Amino acid sequence: MSRVRIVATIGPATNNADALRALAQAGMNVARLNGSHGDLDWHRATIELLRKTLPDVPILLDIPGRKIRTIGLKHEPSFAAGDTITLTTEPDHDGRKKVPVNYDRLHEDLKAGHTILADDGTLRFTVTEVRGRDIVCRAETPGTLRSRKGINVPYVKLNTALVTERDHKMVGFARETGVDFIGISFVESAAHVEAIRELAGKDGPRIVSKVENQGGLDHMEEILAATDAAMIDRGDLSVETNLQSLTLFQKRIIDAARVAGKPVIVATEMLHTMIENDFPTKAEVSDITNAVLDGTTALMLSGETAVGKHPVSAVTLMRQVANEAERYLQSRLDDAGQKSSVPRAMEDAIALICRTLPITKIVAVTRSGFAARSVAARQVRQPIIAVSNDAQAARSFNIFPGVTGEYVDIEFPRTSTDHIVTCLETLWRRGLLSIDDLVLITAVGYPKSGNRMNLIQTHAVADLIETLGWKK
Ligand code: ATP
Ligand code: MG
Ligand code: MG
Repeated sequence: MSRVRIVATIGPATNNADALRALAQAGMNVARLNGSHGDLDWHRATIELLRKTLPDVPILLDIPGRKIRTIGLKHEPSFAAGDTITLTTEPDHDGRKKVPVNYDRLHEDLKAGHTILADDGTLRFTVTEVRGRDIVCRAETPGTLRSRKGINVPYVKLNTALVTERDHKMVGFARETGVDFIGISFVESAAHVEAIRELAGKDGPRIVSKVENQGGLDHMEEILAATDAAMIDRGDLSVETNLQSLTLFQKRIIDAARVAGKPVIVATEMLHTMIENDFPTKAEVSDITNAVLDGTTALMLSGETAVGKHPVSAVTLMRQVANEAERYLQSRLDDAGQKSSVPRAMEDAIALICRTLPITKIVAVTRSGFAARSVAARQVRQPIIAVSNDAQAARSFNIFPGVTGEYVDIEFPRTSTDHIVTCLETLWRRGLLSIDDLVLITAVGYPKSGNRMNLIQTHAVADLIETLGWKK
């Protein structure tokens, strides 16, 4: 048990030996440092402390990379919706009049009308004017713009270099301090991974590519082939793409990582409310459970352990919830590995045929509804017509998803299967099957008490009409 790894971000709340030991005890497997926060001396000291306190725990250092951020501000401006806020690419401001950002060409890439998001998308601005190096904005949301918070400009192609000067410096630092992994932001190609690998050197740290924008999604396969591990940073990803699809992107990336055989970390806000509270929301518990069921290999905590009030409780809880989800996953795998039965094998075959052939309708000839219920449970996309010679049973089939119950007033004999073709002809006469349909039929032939669903046939209705001479 406890296969899923927990990555915990170390910050001012946890950079002491007691806290580190408690985090490891609670279930942390990897310690992460975010190179965007805290200076190099802070990171050097924390790495030393980690090595001394937890020599077996690998360290992941996220390097600032291409993520645009506000710089360290003396004054963190608060504003109401409608207020004017000026961002600038001139570094010598402290936030009071203008807020400097760390990408010195941002003003060249923006124009009036563009949307700017900040702090994982929680703050939104509209550019009203670009004046020299200043980007004048209207705040669309109230809030406070704090030091070193991320700035996103979705849908605008920025001219940021693949490997920045800061990357050179930070990768050098990572090599020098001997961290085990470096996290790279906004990876959009295998070439980007290779460029960083070149810098990191052969025996240098391994690479965790952060998939956090549309470019990353578009080139997920090549990135996964090139990288050592991937991280889904849902903060940036939700801002750079769209919030409604975020969970589906998570599933796609996890699936692709499994195919590529690479570890993948689900990150951002997994227990966000535990930064303040000592108890999670049900949605957060559900999020952890579902990420494990999606097949992620690791879960991450950011602010929860870096600056939160309950870092150890957050890890403990994440571990408990993840273990429970893993137990469930395992029991499901055990169930799936059980010996099959004829109806179950039939279901498997039907699900496969319905996925791989252009079947348009499924007809289940079924007295009790077993065939309709079990095929419907496999979530096939085709409509299911369930035919019975018991009127009440036929009506009851309408409760199964995607199923229409049909009553036919004929005998279902035990000693022949002729009634099956009679059912098909009846459905055709009633207009429920048409000449263009390719149907899959399932039924039980020559039933003895207790046996169910042992027949599968496929027919083009056009062929049946011709061969059997059906006439309306
Ligand atoms: P990323 O895109 O890499 O996730 P982030 O700004 O969202 O960047 P996280 O690592 O997710 O940063 O951490 C969440 C928050 O915790 C940060 O925004 C920051 O406020 C705080 N934090 C993290 N590490 C530190 C640190 N070493 N010192 C101070 N604050 C930190
Ligand atoms: Mg990010
Ligand atoms: Mg984050």
